[in-house]
Amino acid sequence: MSKQTFRCSFCNKQREEVNMLIAGRDGVHICDECVESAYEIIEQELGNYKAKGKPGSYNMNMKKPLEIKAYLDQYIIGQERAKKTLSVAVYNHYKRLNQTISDDEIEIEKSNLILVGETGTGKTLLAKTIAKLLNVPFAIVDATVFTEAGYVGEDIESMLTRLLQNCDYDVEAAERGIVFIDEIDKIARKNDNPSITRDVSGEGVQQGLLKMLEGTEVLVPPQGGRKHPDQKMIKINTKNILFIAGGAFDGIDRIIGKRVNTNAIGFNVNKELQEQQRLNLLQFVNAQDLKTFGLIPELLGRLPVVTYLDPLDAVTLRSILTEPKNALVKQFTKLFDIEGIKLEFEPGVFDFIVEKSLEFKLGARGLRSILEQILNTAMYELPSEKLDKFVVTLEYAKKQLDDNNFNNLRVA
Ligand code: ADP
Repeated sequence: MSKQTFRCSFCNKQREEVNMLIAGRDGVHICDECVESAYEIIEQELGNYKAKGKPGSYNMNMKKPLEIKAYLDQYIIGQERAKKTLSVAVYNHYKRLNQTISDDEIEIEKSNLILVGETGTGKTLLAKTIAKLLNVPFAIVDATVFTEAGYVGEDIESMLTRLLQNCDYDVEAAERGIVFIDEIDKIARKNDNPSITRDVSGEGVQQGLLKMLEGTEVLVPPQGGRKHPDQKMIKINTKNILFIAGGAFDGIDRIIGKRVNTNAIGFNVNKELQEQQRLNLLQFVNAQDLKTFGLIPELLGRLPVVTYLDPLDAVTLRSILTEPKNALVKQFTKLFDIEGIKLEFEPGVFDFIVEKSLEFKLGARGLRSILEQILNTAMYELPSEKLDKFVVTLEYAKKQLDDNNFNNLRVA
């Protein structure tokens, strides 16, 4: 009887022609070469699958706009319009991510945003809080450090390095993250300065941002910087990264005012409405104003959602001190708590802090430095004393600020 020849059921090669032949049921075999090709096919298919934006293993918390807004309310005081707009934009963005390419070929575009508002009004806090809620990686970058590729300064790609670093190089997670680009107004085109030299840190950077905001594959240096030409690059697709840009856009109220008033010519606009508009022109901000300010239309096209943040008044600052989930006063009370000391404030202290913050033009950021100065001596001395309660009186608060030369904090 002749010896039986085993063959690969896929490529028909004989046992002698391959390294290994694996037996299946009913006399079926597969050779090592076919296993390898099959593996490659699977890899490729899974890769395409991922590129289509199907949810990966990353555990993202998808929330409805109302839920997003309710969550933001716990941390951010006021800024109703910005919170609502952001909730919808973020919801739509992540809905788009989970979209399966359907027959109608309607592809939802990205809803990158621009937040316009004075410094310290909560722009970064909004973006950061959203990222926390959704459980996606988050990075804050400053537009002013970027220059057009090849010039002194940071390459635009470095913002993705930051994002990668913040999620321990989990590429898949980073590709669904949120990048907050601060000070976007500082890279505005300098209209009134027609210089013959290239505008490498203004319009050049805006141009450089276009592809990244829209969605492209970027090779990112894992350690950042340009100094290691040999380092292995990581490929990131920015298609599903949400970009939120923020800026104070100093003087934009004049641009808005001009536009709004021009439009009003010929209409009988009532006085009260005019006064209201003058008080908060920011609420009318649109892409046209941002263009007049110096952002190029192509960039604005890739940041289609524009919203604004209100300036913080005394009432809002007062609430910021005590109301948010991790309000400053709650944080300091906790610090004292850990020492076994109950921290209390006399009436009037909070109003005094708000007053000082407004007087020194420090905004919400000032609240922290003022509170810190008031409590510094106590935090220094009390842990060594046996005390179960510490009351901050108005007199004590004032004295602490005086003793700490608080006047030096004044903004010119
Ligand atoms: P921006 O990015 O607009 O310059 P931030 O978001 O960095 O301002 O705000 C600075 C700090 O001020 C925040 O960390 C937060 O403590 C506080 N803050 C500002 N605005 C608000 C707000 N509307 N609600 C609660 N806290 C706020």
